[in-house]
Amino acid sequence: MSSSASIKIVWVYPDLLSTYGDQGNCIVLERRAALRGIHTRTVHVRSDETVPVDGDIYLLGGGEDRPQILAARRLRNDGGLHKAREFGAVIFAVCAGYQLLGTEFGGEEGQPVQGLGLLDIRSGRGERRAVGEIVGDVDPALGVPRITGFENHQGVTYLGPGAKPLARVVHGVGNGDGTEGAYADHVIGTYMHGPALVRNPGLADLLLRWAIKDELPPLPESWADRLREERLKAVLG
Ligand code: GLN
Repeated sequence: MSSSASIKIVWVYPDLLSTYGDQGNCIVLERRAALRGIHTRTVHVRSDETVPVDGDIYLLGGGEDRPQILAARRLRNDGGLHKAREFGAVIFAVCAGYQLLGTEFGGEEGQPVQGLGLLDIRSGRGERRAVGEIVGDVDPALGVPRITGFENHQGVTYLGPGAKPLARVVHGVGNGDGTEGAYADHVIGTYMHGPALVRNPGLADLLLRWAIKDELPPLPESWADRLREERLKAVLG
């Protein structure tokens, strides 16, 4: 890897999609890249702005039902995220952001709302709200150790044949069928807040590896690793 590598991070719609500190996902990517001498440039794209198509990593956070519906409508009309996905960009989306990447999700009255169709998933309204800690064992193909997070959602998510579960649920609810999140190519969606990349450095490094298309030198144990261990212990005992 060359130290001149540079990554453009696009934080999509901070005004609509950014609950539970999801913006921390941006900060941790910047930091873990910098520790490897990789330069990053982050742009915050508000919902009245155009989504650039030349990003390397796009981040979407969680949101309440109405901002989620608005964000889906604007992103559909904008089309930038679709182009970026065609160009092979990495997309990491949390909760409301995850649901709206699919073909459909449930609105505030449970009505079906059209999503972006960027991930082969469909979400609807579950019977009970899923709130609490969540732990999952990641698909071994991704090489990421056990992940932890916090979930707070009404939606349940069904995966189509074009998406694989990100993880198998060890604790918590996730998609509602024993799986958590979904991925296809370089697009990942998850119900994990936390923020997810702060609590799971392995997941952050996976996104960076995909973006630079190269391996990353390992980092010495950090507060992030300790936090992850602490949360696993707190939840699983
Ligand atoms: N509105 C969605 C749901 O309740 C997403 C919530 C969130 O992003 N926390 O399922």
